[in-house]
Amino acid sequence: MKGQMMHYPLTTTVILEYGARVFPKKKIISIQPNGTRHEYSFSDMHKTCKKLANALVNKLGIQPGDMVGTFAWNHHQHVELYYAIPGIGAVCHTINVRLFPAQIEFIINHAEDRVIFADATLVPILEKIAPLITTVEHFIILNAPENFSSTLNNIILYEDLLKNVSEDFDWVEVDEHDACAMCYTSGTTGQPKGVLYSHRSTYLHAMGIIAPNAACISDKDRILIVVPQFHVMAWGFPYACVLAGAEMVMPSLHFQPDAMIKILSEEKINKANGVPTIWMGIYDAMKKNPPKEKLLLEEYLIGGSALPISLIEGFEKDFGIPGVHAWGMTETSPLGTVSRLQSKHERLDDAAQLKIRGKQGIECPCVEIRAVKEDGSIAPRDGKTIGEFEIRGVWVVDNYFKTNNRDSFSEDGWFKTGDVGTIDEDGYMEITDRSKDLVKSGGEWISSVVLEMAIMAHPKVKEASVIAIPDAKWGERPLAVIVLRDENEMVTGDELKQFLLRDFLSYQLPDSYVYVNSIPKTSVGKFDKKEMRRMYAEGELNA
Ligand code: ADP
Repeated sequence: MKGQMMHYPLTTTVILEYGARVFPKKKIISIQPNGTRHEYSFSDMHKTCKKLANALVNKLGIQPGDMVGTFAWNHHQHVELYYAIPGIGAVCHTINVRLFPAQIEFIINHAEDRVIFADATLVPILEKIAPLITTVEHFIILNAPENFSSTLNNIILYEDLLKNVSEDFDWVEVDEHDACAMCYTSGTTGQPKGVLYSHRSTYLHAMGIIAPNAACISDKDRILIVVPQFHVMAWGFPYACVLAGAEMVMPSLHFQPDAMIKILSEEKINKANGVPTIWMGIYDAMKKNPPKEKLLLEEYLIGGSALPISLIEGFEKDFGIPGVHAWGMTETSPLGTVSRLQSKHERLDDAAQLKIRGKQGIECPCVEIRAVKEDGSIAPRDGKTIGEFEIRGVWVVDNYFKTNNRDSFSEDGWFKTGDVGTIDEDGYMEITDRSKDLVKSGGEWISSVVLEMAIMAHPKVKEASVIAIPDAKWGERPLAVIVLRDENEMVTGDELKQFLLRDFLSYQLPDSYVYVNSIPKTSVGKFDKKEMRRMYAEGELNA
C-alpha cells in the first residue's frame, strides 16, 4: 500500500523561498576581493536571485538543462548564482580555480558551459586558455574594478547584466531529480570527472549538514564559510545556512591567517568550516599574536584532509575552541562522516576522547559505509581489520557525467572511495591510507600522474615518479623521483620547475627532486609508490 502524503519537490528554489519567507532579515556578509564589506539580507538576496534568473533567461537565453559556469571566490554574488541558475532549471557548474590550466580548459569544454561568471581577479587564468574554450558565449565579470579591461571576448559586467531587469520572475518548475549543480574531481589518471548533483540530493544534503550530529547549524549561528564555493559547493553550506536561518560570512579571497582572524573577531563568528592547512595557519598566527578579545568561535568543522590531533589539542588548550573532524568527497556532496563524541564517551579520559575525535567519524543518516578487504569480503567493525571504504546513499554519485565507466563502483553499486582504513565497534571510521594516486596539498588535489607525464616530457629525463610526502603546513606536498637519461647530463630541480611552469601553477610543482638510478616497480611494471613512500619515510630518498 502506498502512503498518502503530498508530493512536495525538494529543490534549491524551495530552500531559497523558505529562507526569504522565514528568515528574511538574516544577513549575508561578504568581504569582497578588494577588501570592502558588503552586507544584505536573505530577503535582498532573494530579490537579486529573481533579477539574475530573469537576466539569465531573457538577456542570455539560458534554457533548462544548460550549463552555466562559475569561476569565483566566496561572496554574495556567488551565492546568488547558487540559487538563480538552478532556479531556471539550468546547472550551476562551479569550476575549481586551483586546477591545472589544462584541466580547467578540459572541464569547461567537457561541461559545455554556455556562460561563465568569473571574478575579475581570476580573469587572467581564463585569458590564457580562452582560445581553446569552444562553447562559452559570454563571460560575466564579478567585482570588476573601475579600470577593468580584458582580452576575453563578449564580456558583460555583473552589475550591467542586472541593470533594468525586473524582480518579477516565475521560477521554472523542475523535477526534484533534475540536475542543479556540478563539480569536477581530479582524476587519478585521465581527465577530471564531473559529479552532477540533483535538486533532491542537494536539499537532503543541506538537511544532513544542519543536523546536530553533523555541523549543528541553527538560526543562532553566524558562520564563516572558509571552504571555497568552487570546492564541493563549499560543503553545501550556502544551502544549509539558508535552510537553518544561519548568517553567512563570505571571505572571498582573504584566506590568509591574519585576515581570517580579523574576520572571525570583527564579524563575531561562532562557527566555521575549512581544511586543516587554513586552521593550522590560524592557530600559529593566534599563538604568535593572541587576539586581544577572546574569539566567540565555539567550534570549527574541519575536513578535506586528516585532522592532526595536535591541532585539535592545541586550539582547545590554548584558546578553548574545539575542532570537529569530518570526512567526505566531491562524489558524496561531500558529507560522509563526522566525529563527535557520543554520550557513552563522556566518562573517558582526555586522551581516549581525543583519539576518537581524531578519527574521521560515524556515518551521517542517508549514507552507508563499509570497509571491503582485498579478498572482496566485508571487514568486521573491529577497529583493526583494514579495507577500502565504499559508500552508498542519497547524496552519493551514481555515475560520472557523460561516461559509462564503472571502474569506481562495486558490482552491487557502491562507490569505491579510494580511502583505506578501519571501522571500530562504535562505527567510527579511521583512514590509515589511500589507494588513489594523488597528492592533497592545502585541501586541493595535485594529480601525480599528470605531473609525472609533464616531467618525463623533459628531454633529459628518462623516468619520473611523483609521490605525496607529509608536510606540516600543507598536509602533503609532491616529491619527484627522477631517473636521468644520461647521468652526465644533469637537469636541476630549478630547471625542471621553469620547464613545468609553462603548464602548472607554482604551488602545484614538487618542492623537492630526488635523483635515483631506477624507480622501484611493482610486479606488473607500474611505479611502486608504496615502496617509494616507505623509502622516503626511512630516509632512503634524500633530495
Ligand atoms: P573534500 O576536499 O571536500 O573532502 P575531495 O573530493 O576534493 O573533497 O576529496 C576527497 C578526499 O579527500 C577523500 O577521499 C580523502 O582521500 C580526503 N579526505 C577528505 N576528508 C578527509 C579527512 N577528514 N581525513 C583524511 N582524508 C580526507
